[in-house]
Amino acid sequence: MTVTAAPPIPGGIVAAPLLAATPGWYEECDVVIVGSGIAGLSLALYARTLGYRVMVVTKSRVEHGSTQWAQGGIAAALDEDDSPDDHLRDTLIAGAGLCDEDAVRVLVTQGPGAVRDLVALGTRFDRTAGGDIALTREGGHLRDRIAHAGGDATGAEIVRALVQAVQDDADIVLYEQALALDLLLDGTGAVQGLTLHVMGQGQRDGVGAVLAPAVVLATGGLGQVFAATTNPKVATGDGMAMAARAGAVMSDLEFVQFHPTVMWLGPAARGQQPLVSEAVRGEGAILLDPHGRRFMPDLHPLAELAPRDVVSKAVMRAMREAGAPNVWLDGRRLGAEVWQERFPTILTRSRELGIDPVTQLIPVAPAQHYASGGIRTDLSGRASLRGLFACGEVACTGVHGANRLASNSLLEGLVFADRIAGVLADGLPARRDPVSRPGTPAVIDDAARPLIQQAMSDGVGVLRSGPSIAAAADEIAAVPQQYPAQPATEAWETTNIAAVATILAHQAGARLETRGSHWREDFPEADDQWRLHQATRLVDGELITQSTPLSTPDWKAWHD
Ligand SMILES: Cc1cc2nc3c(=O)[nH]c(=O)nc-3n(C[C@H](O)[C@H](O)[C@H](O)COP(=O)(O)OP(=O)(O)OC[C@H]3O[C@@H](n4cnc5c(N)ncnc54)[C@H](O)[C@@H]3O)c2cc1C
Repeated sequence: MTVTAAPPIPGGIVAAPLLAATPGWYEECDVVIVGSGIAGLSLALYARTLGYRVMVVTKSRVEHGSTQWAQGGIAAALDEDDSPDDHLRDTLIAGAGLCDEDAVRVLVTQGPGAVRDLVALGTRFDRTAGGDIALTREGGHLRDRIAHAGGDATGAEIVRALVQAVQDDADIVLYEQALALDLLLDGTGAVQGLTLHVMGQGQRDGVGAVLAPAVVLATGGLGQVFAATTNPKVATGDGMAMAARAGAVMSDLEFVQFHPTVMWLGPAARGQQPLVSEAVRGEGAILLDPHGRRFMPDLHPLAELAPRDVVSKAVMRAMREAGAPNVWLDGRRLGAEVWQERFPTILTRSRELGIDPVTQLIPVAPAQHYASGGIRTDLSGRASLRGLFACGEVACTGVHGANRLASNSLLEGLVFADRIAGVLADGLPARRDPVSRPGTPAVIDDAARPLIQQAMSDGVGVLRSGPSIAAAADEIAAVPQQYPAQPATEAWETTNIAAVATILAHQAGARLETRGSHWREDFPEADDQWRLHQATRLVDGELITQSTPLSTPDWKAWHD
């Protein structure tokens, strides 16, 4: 086992709780869930069946999150010609030797039942003429196993059904515009609630605290850590930063998936960019290099449907060789009817942006899309701190390894929400009073956000090397001194972005190989010695990283 220590975190951006002040109000419940995407909302519904007082807090409107944007669909072995074993095989291949097989087995065997739960809840998936759920194929899948809704509006339909069910349940308390700030710990180090900032909800206005013996972080991804991403504005890595500040183990953050076909809107484009789903390639669209030549069939037997990291790297190479900012996606062969029926959302958005994919090539380039790593959990969604659970994109369950297989993430949120409910069914963790944690808030002004994002895209993006990662880390380390701020929503988020960027750069710098979505130009080959996870934890203000084997931790045994 290797142990590496990073220098102390600059300005305490990971170490200090965001808020040293006393909360103005308190509330109690049994289970508090942060986030209202597929993970948070489905867990709220599962936990309610156990009779607990459940609260969901979400920092924007309830439907805002990555889930709403999901296009392609949700993967599960639903077809009679498919099987969980086949789904397992494809997931392990995409994961490039770094998946935890036990976790993947949980995902693929519980997957079909979890999708049926969604149907029972009222989710309207697209159907075949015979009335079965229509299934399509995406990159890395050797079977048709992607269920979709509204053509390419799967996430919106899932969110519609989940929000409806949560709002119909008068016993689930939902706070919108409620930004979770930090975890509250008791004297034993167990999590006992959180601090949050609520905007404009009567008596609950301003900074308060929710006390609960079970806290679930379902805060989604970290896309806004980078300059260009498919993720919405809310994806600022808050849950990861909160967990890291409290001392939870974080793993696999270096494995950031860059989607190969994100619409390229020019050099000045920033923030969330329009995605052209992999399913468009599944229906027959092909990639052309800047000279108009098809290049994927020479590089991989699955051509345009090779795993995402393979396609992203090939696209980057084609762009680099031609000195061009984008390649082209040719979907003209799909025809107007397929575009309208299968991809109405992408078609409309493209036309709004002045590109008609029925008759024109779409300019595309890779952009940040998905965080495979996050808060390290066991097979039941427990984090390394007692009382803390993580679910959905914020978690590192081990199912994605070095590269997520397309459409496995919605499924992961659903399946592991059910697993967490399984733990809660056995009883809640012990309830104790939280103790206040010392620390000087080191909040970073939002003006630093573009600087951090550009540093990360330039230094820790699709292509990275030791010097480029170190340059990004140095730039981010200087930010707290250069951009001090008073607490405010954007400043809290930017502070979280800086904290997550620091850990991500730390893990990317330490992994001296190329594997999956982690592409080191100075270490271009996979190295068998690196078939392990990195587990990073904040200890006395220093990030300590240990190498851990390819098996899911048993945090219950660790707690006991
Ligand atoms: C454009 C796009 C297309 C995609 N397509 C697919 C697909 O086809 N299939 C697939 O499987 N996956 C897809 N993904 C990935 C998938 O959508 C996400 O991984 C998944 O939806 C994450 O769900 P979640 O519940 O973990 O997080 P989210 O849905 O992102 O929800 C996170 C929630 O946490 C809240 N939150 C965050 N921080 C705080 C805080 N501090 N306090 C309070 N609330 C907070 C947010 O407001 C939000 O409500 C896609 C992603 C994108 C962006």
